[in-house]
Amino acid sequence: MSIRPEQYPAMMNELRSAFDQGLTRALAWRRQQLDALERMLRENEAAIDAALAADLDKPRQEVLLGEVALLLSEIKHARHRLARWSRPRRVSTPMVGQPGSSWVQPEPLGLVLIMGAWNYPVQLILAPLIPAIAAGNAAVLKPSEIAEHTAALIAELVPRYLDSRAIRVVEGAVEETTELLKQRFDHIFYTGGAAVGRIIMRAAAEHLTPVTLELGGKSPCVIDRGADLRSAARRLVWGKCLNAGQTCIAPDYVLVHPEDRPALIEAMRAELEAMYGEDRLASPDYCKIINRRHFDRLVGYLGHGQIAIGGGSDPASERIEPTVLIDVSPDDPVMQEEIFGPILPVLTIDSLEQAIEFIREREKPLSAYLFTRSRKSERRFESAISTGNLCINDVLMFMSVPDLPFGGVGESGMGQYHGQAGFDRLSHLKSVMRRGRWPEVTVRFAPYSNFKMKLLK
Ligand code: NAD
Repeated sequence: MSIRPEQYPAMMNELRSAFDQGLTRALAWRRQQLDALERMLRENEAAIDAALAADLDKPRQEVLLGEVALLLSEIKHARHRLARWSRPRRVSTPMVGQPGSSWVQPEPLGLVLIMGAWNYPVQLILAPLIPAIAAGNAAVLKPSEIAEHTAALIAELVPRYLDSRAIRVVEGAVEETTELLKQRFDHIFYTGGAAVGRIIMRAAAEHLTPVTLELGGKSPCVIDRGADLRSAARRLVWGKCLNAGQTCIAPDYVLVHPEDRPALIEAMRAELEAMYGEDRLASPDYCKIINRRHFDRLVGYLGHGQIAIGGGSDPASERIEPTVLIDVSPDDPVMQEEIFGPILPVLTIDSLEQAIEFIREREKPLSAYLFTRSRKSERRFESAISTGNLCINDVLMFMSVPDLPFGGVGESGMGQYHGQAGFDRLSHLKSVMRRGRWPEVTVRFAPYSNFKMKLLK
């Protein structure tokens, strides 16, 4: 049964007491919970597929690719490195601290609140749980109510597999979350839009609780002159159509030279046909839009610019065809808001420098993409663009590297996770210094003198 708001204070007390008694600190407990999480994913493959099909029509291969495979890889990665990450990290001690030794001791923060978004509703709620467990914390999970079938499944499975003394699921929407945010957590890990991110940060400020905000934004994709247009088109189409574009790191718009635009669009048309056939609205390999509100919002974008490919939609199935827009103005709503759907505006720029200027005039994106054959362009783009993540000659694929920290910058978020970055984010890196008692270097003690001053310089 779902935990009601009036029960939150009691829940917090129980979790706090389990944490204070050291339940979650033992490495054996952490390993056991990670193993249980892996079992939960493996033994409930069919139920997970069914929930994601109900919420998003998500094809099974996309469930594996975008949700479960990443989790399994993160679990394996963390499990193998848990002991190493948790060990004291020795640092050097300068002369003035001799005799002595110094180290950094990671320690768990305490109670972590994890709030997920609806677009990858399994991955986004469980991926932060992996470092939360690995770092020895207790956790409360609040899945997004918008992916309702998945939220219900998470609420059912987590207590069956994980230790309820330290890990709970709270279901609910705005009213419940508002109450939950009044509780005192030691860290809030939020994934979602920037508007709610601000609400989270305000609530967290009440208790001086640190936050990680995994937000979104408009991730640009630049096609450099001379780039391999076929390869770019294939990867772009894949990255934009995965989850029907409802991906925080999906390429949001494309910047290409006017002379390359026709060839790029033709290549995208061919790739779309190869991947999804002629009737894309009926493709079994293609997701639906999460709900009517988002469907209507996205259909509203189709009235701007000119439709080069696609443009079809079906309110009954809440599906929108992969659509390429051209002749869009930077002032059109489709270029003012994060699209978060299968619509790709292709704008023209005269040079890489102009593309860089265009991107830098806007908020810092979560991801930026460049397709190029030139190392010079690569270096220029890399040094000029501030972005959460950067990928050259592909999209999204950096997510498959557990040692690459994932997270935004500026308006696209704060704080990173995946691999050790997640472990460190949900740990306090406590400084420890241990002094020897002899010999005593007296230079720091009064009475002060010119001689001592000289020694200190
Ligand atoms: P959402 O509506 O599911 O909201 C996310 C969470 O916020 C949910 O748990 C929801 O219950 C809670 N919430 C909503 N309104 C609230 C309120 N008024 N007060 C307190 N809590 C509230 O998700 P969304 O915001 O539609 O997600 C889409 C956005 O998330 C996009 O901008 C996307 O780019 C971003 N996103 C980022 C990542 C990432 O990893 N950086 C991943 C996925 C999505």
